[in-house]
Amino acid sequence: MKAITVEPKKPGSARYEDFPEPDVREGSVLVEAVAVGVCGTDVEIVEGKYGWAPPGKTRLVLGHESLGRVIDPGPSSSFKAGDLVVGIVRRPDPVPCPNCAVGEWDMCTNGQYTERGIKEIHGFMSERWRIEPEYAIKVDASLGLLGVLLEPMTVITKAIEQVFLAGQRAYWEPRTVLVTGAGPIGLLAALRLSARNLQVHVLDRAETGPKPQLVRDLGATYHTGSVLDLDFAPDIVVECTGVGAVIADSIQKVNSGGIICLTGVGAGGAAERATADIAAAVVLKNNVIVGSVNANKRHWYKAGQNLAASDPAWLSRLITRREKPENFQQALVRQPDDIKVVIQFSDI
Ligand SMILES: [Zn+2]
Repeated sequence: MKAITVEPKKPGSARYEDFPEPDVREGSVLVEAVAVGVCGTDVEIVEGKYGWAPPGKTRLVLGHESLGRVIDPGPSSSFKAGDLVVGIVRRPDPVPCPNCAVGEWDMCTNGQYTERGIKEIHGFMSERWRIEPEYAIKVDASLGLLGVLLEPMTVITKAIEQVFLAGQRAYWEPRTVLVTGAGPIGLLAALRLSARNLQVHVLDRAETGPKPQLVRDLGATYHTGSVLDLDFAPDIVVECTGVGAVIADSIQKVNSGGIICLTGVGAGGAAERATADIAAAVVLKNNVIVGSVNANKRHWYKAGQNLAASDPAWLSRLITRREKPENFQQALVRQPDDIKVVIQFSDI
């Protein structure tokens, strides 16, 4: 079969190549790939900045935002041939740490977890892949290609859960939400928060393209420019840019008692404000800053429900480009109006 593989930590090593059929030890369910979403982590792996091959191997099959069709459900699963499934990305560490021991592998404390397509387990960018039945999530057949949005939806399902869990520390009546960054994660955050009784605002750099109308179609308000120029103090900030200045401005701007959830992963940049000044603002306003990454099975299950309950016409506008596997390099290069780019392996 064909697969998109990379030698981790070696820039320029990605290729679409012949690769052995998936090993039965990777899971009893055999799946035909339909599509795989591309995200910033894939770009980082291809640029040689991140990623680990399976033990004893030099190459890693890329891809963690999967959608596939069951070919053979194997002897011990409730799936049927033809079911659409998405693979959970992370596996618990082998020790295990207390969180992995109770199924909260997203909260792993020793860092020895593994992740498909990222850390020591092959990903989903191959014509066929295998998965353990307990790590496959069936998606509603009516979703079709939109099932590829399940993995990003799990990230935001966990993040929103974290915000409202943190909110229980005191009496809290949140009214306004600011989402910074209108990429797939930010737009899915706006979608889910709009479903609650909250005034949702989204801030992004883009002044043209599909993002402003996607936000307005949720009944939310679209902003460009600086967080500091907004004429309200948000009760919740869901930060999806990872940009230092946006994070510092959000902490300054958030309302008293407000909660900031960081989901973006950035690096570097100038120190916009002294750490003690940022901390003073957090102290004096009783703010919570909570980081959120990955998701566990509870979030995957809820995300599947959230996705199936969303407007499919709106969701389909998030998938702005589809590329063939042999053109995967084009999928990795951002174009101005891209939101979610997917590599499509087979028809749906
Ligand atoms: Zn762990």
